[in-house]
Amino acid sequence: MPEHVLVTGGAGYIGAHACKALARAGYVPVCFDNLSTGWEAAVKFGPLERGDLMDAAAIRAALARWKPVAVMHFAALSLVGDSMTDPGRYWRVNVGGALNLIEACLAEGVGRFVFSSTCATYGDQDGVVLDEETPQRPINAYGASKLAIEQMLGNFGASHGLQSVIFRYFNVAGADPEGEVGERHEPETHLIPLMLDAVEGKRAALTVFGSDYATADGTCLRDYVHVTDLAEAHVRGLRWLQDGRGSRVFCLGTGTGYSVREVIDHARVVTNRAVPIVEGARRAGDAAALVCGSARAREELGWAPERGLDAMIRDAWRWSQGRGF
Ligand code: UDP
Repeated sequence: MPEHVLVTGGAGYIGAHACKALARAGYVPVCFDNLSTGWEAAVKFGPLERGDLMDAAAIRAALARWKPVAVMHFAALSLVGDSMTDPGRYWRVNVGGALNLIEACLAEGVGRFVFSSTCATYGDQDGVVLDEETPQRPINAYGASKLAIEQMLGNFGASHGLQSVIFRYFNVAGADPEGEVGERHEPETHLIPLMLDAVEGKRAALTVFGSDYATADGTCLRDYVHVTDLAEAHVRGLRWLQDGRGSRVFCLGTGTGYSVREVIDHARVVTNRAVPIVEGARRAGDAAALVCGSARAREELGWAPERGLDAMIRDAWRWSQGRGF
């Protein structure tokens, strides 16, 4: 009997890649998704339970039906800019949805929970490398909502024994190298797909959000991690919980920061085309630098990201040219 894992947001970008990694590892990923931002065509590796995290009964029904060994919780609103204009939605959907899901897990006897958190929980910390011990001081509602869920998981762990692995993602990029799944957001807001759209002429130019940050070239520094490497970490996190190793937080990044200008330079080389850009204002809520200290994930999970920035751009480029959904 294969083991099932309920994957909320499994029709979304990172969730779909995690479903592929789970299926490869012998699990059956059951995608729980309302398809508000995900794509039915991305659900290729297991069944789809179309449902909403605001609907506690629907979550319980899915858990009762599939009896998963764990839940992986990806479904969330995840745009820093939106979270600054409409913070209420972020608190309602992200925090309210997670609470419904956690309570449903307890009611249905699911005791393992893998959670997608973010480096946006750290805020702006003046050039330090961010690891699991760094104090969290979010500067946008997105980061605040994810931090609240981390704290919620701590509370439910202490009171009800819920075991959780929390992954704080840095900037996830790229696409499945085999082209089965990839990134599609509508509207798109992320740097690499927007940049590739500009290269292809699907948009006039990439706007660089701020050139006056306190970084070497004035643009924001981010730690980009390949979505396939990130997905692989989730399988390791699941095994960690199944091995009874207890609740743990892991940061997932490569440890190398690239500025927006450096990403553009790499794209020029990888695509061998010009990248049209215009310089624009800062985007509200952006931290100057977010770079990951990933020693814990490497040492304890045995996770080693294998794909660098050029592979991320190359795989995203291939996906954007022939994308399946
Ligand atoms: N960025 C940019 N222009 C864009 C989109 C993003 O200059 O059109 C910058 C953004 O300010 C940040 C980096 O690219 O410094 C990564 O942004 P993205 O939205 O991809 O991810 P986030 O850091 O918000 O998770």
